[in-house]
Amino acid sequence: MATHNCLFCKIATKGEVPSSKVYEDADTYAFLDINPNNPGHTLVVPKEHFMNLFDISDEALCAVMKTAHLIAPAVKRAVNATGINIIMNNGRSAGQIVDHAHIHVIPRFSDDGYRHWPGTPYKDGEIEKVATKIRAEL
Ligand code: AMP
Ligand code: ZN
Repeated sequence: MATHNCLFCKIATKGEVPSSKVYEDADTYAFLDINPNNPGHTLVVPKEHFMNLFDISDEALCAVMKTAHLIAPAVKRAVNATGINIIMNNGRSAGQIVDHAHIHVIPRFSDDGYRHWPGTPYKDGEIEKVATKIRAEL
């Protein structure tokens, strides 16, 4: 998506769409998600436009993770959470809706009702085949 039509560019760099900002520096912008999983759910975005994990630069990814690291304890304290999930959705199948790279900082409570996705054990011999394929792609 072109940056001129990008919602998070309009929020983070152009000020064309209002947001509840919690933090900003030269490279990143952090604001409250309007449809939070729990109150305090914050999005951290790079000011430079990238679509997601597959095109973001090392520098921009490090900058957003550094900001997530900075704000996570503040979010946790502010809403008296007992845990934090850091999530990045990359691609439609992974739940990405807004095509400007962003990290979700989600406060968690032991009684909030969310459950982790269930895992499925590998069949015999499958795990090493998958690891071999991934190593071949690197
Ligand atoms: P994702 O599914 O990872 O692309 O997440 C996009 C997130 O952006 C969702 O959690 C939305 O609730 C959130 N969102 C969409 N529009 C806005 C907005 N104008 N201000 C703040 N958060 C937004
Ligand atoms: Zn953008």
